[in-house]
Amino acid sequence: MSNTGNISGYLEIKIPTDAKADDKLKNLVLSSLEAKYCLPFPETISKRIQEELDTSTRFGYAPIYLAHREIIRSAENYDFPFYLIGANGASLIDYALGITNINPLPPHYRCEKCKYVEFVFDDQFDTGFLLPDKICPVCSEKLLGDGQNLHVESFIG
Ligand SMILES: [Zn+2]
Repeated sequence: MSNTGNISGYLEIKIPTDAKADDKLKNLVLSSLEAKYCLPFPETISKRIQEELDTSTRFGYAPIYLAHREIIRSAENYDFPFYLIGANGASLIDYALGITNINPLPPHYRCEKCKYVEFVFDDQFDTGFLLPDKICPVCSEKLLGDGQNLHVESFIG
């Protein structure tokens, strides 16, 4: 079963439907983010992921995300090189599903040991990779600089 979308009369898109896809996508995304970030999520993360999940539900994207995830997992299992085109790096859902390794959140520190997170809203830093070294205030591990500050609008329009 599929939905059919017609864009400007030139392209017909058939999107597979799956009644459980929205719940499955939400569970996979949240469990992946929970493995990296402390609960409750900071507002920056919770607002972003809710916005993306709502958009996915509204437009029926969940089966596409899940199919994408399976393709990437298969490619990795067979050591098949792959290269993503487009703006997938701007999607927190894609990041959480392992479709891309680019974290689109604003620059931030995160602790891989205790999941501490601290966002840095400073125009001086466009990427979390350039954040100065810092030690976790909770567990004293060296914090990881992450986040490429990509807006979801550049992915889904
Ligand atoms: Zn820590």
